[in-house]
Amino acid sequence: MKYIGAHVSAAGGVEKAPLHAAEIGAGAFALFTKNQRQWKTKPLEEHSIKAFSDHLSQVGISPDHVLPHDSYLINLGSPEEEKWQRAFDAFLDEVRRAEQLGLKLLNFHPGSHLKKISEEECIGRIAKAMNRAIAETDSLVLVIENTAGQGSNIGYSFEQLGRLVELTENKKRVGVCIDTCHAFAAGYDMRSREAYGHTMAHFDEVVGYSYLRGMHLNDAKSEFGSRVDRHAPLGDGNIGIEAFRFLMEDSRLDDIPLILETPEPDRWAQEIKTLYDFAGT
Ligand SMILES: [Zn+2]
Ligand SMILES: [Zn+2]
Repeated sequence: MKYIGAHVSAAGGVEKAPLHAAEIGAGAFALFTKNQRQWKTKPLEEHSIKAFSDHLSQVGISPDHVLPHDSYLINLGSPEEEKWQRAFDAFLDEVRRAEQLGLKLLNFHPGSHLKKISEEECIGRIAKAMNRAIAETDSLVLVIENTAGQGSNIGYSFEQLGRLVELTENKKRVGVCIDTCHAFAAGYDMRSREAYGHTMAHFDEVVGYSYLRGMHLNDAKSEFGSRVDRHAPLGDGNIGIEAFRFLMEDSRLDDIPLILETPEPDRWAQEIKTLYDFAGT
């Protein structure tokens, strides 16, 4: 079965997010558990944690289908020691917050080398942060998101995702999220059934389906292979609506959160409905 939703607002407190998801007919959702543009936030309060899980059961969404996203400020690949440490501390806080909320996953962008170190060195620094965060927490799965490869971002190739998985010591606590817009911008085609099959077979070969723990479903305003990250509503971009039909018909995407990050929230309810129709549910 497919679990489809969107990255909903947590304005007014994390406990509001499940309600926002239910309003648009979602069976899954993503959220920021803190302000994504600030380093410091106050700890989650007991009453928020309790209300979050009450609301989840009230709307019938399982914690397994919630995919929190970490702050955009965090660069676990930072070439500078002090900045790496600050990023690591913030990341650890994100992992702990997600665990406090009873969640299983945390989605994050791997990091950037800022043209100061090699890609492989950057990957090593990201893996160090992941291994350390895993050692200091209980059970959360760190879900690495592929990137469009804009600027000096790591994670644009499936090989790099595979390398990060390989360097993670505890394989039970690492996963991968494919963002369709990022994949397309990085040169992975999904526009025909054949291209989709080829892209996913390649993913299986270098990363492995067992590590696929979530997807971001976005059409792309950017061109194929452009390495530019610009999301579009489904069907309005260069990927086109058919690719999303192939995804929804793919049983390998069952039981993981499938999350829209498309730019027009007013259209989410309709986009979710279209996707559920494609999935035949
Ligand atoms: Zn994404
Ligand atoms: Zn993006």
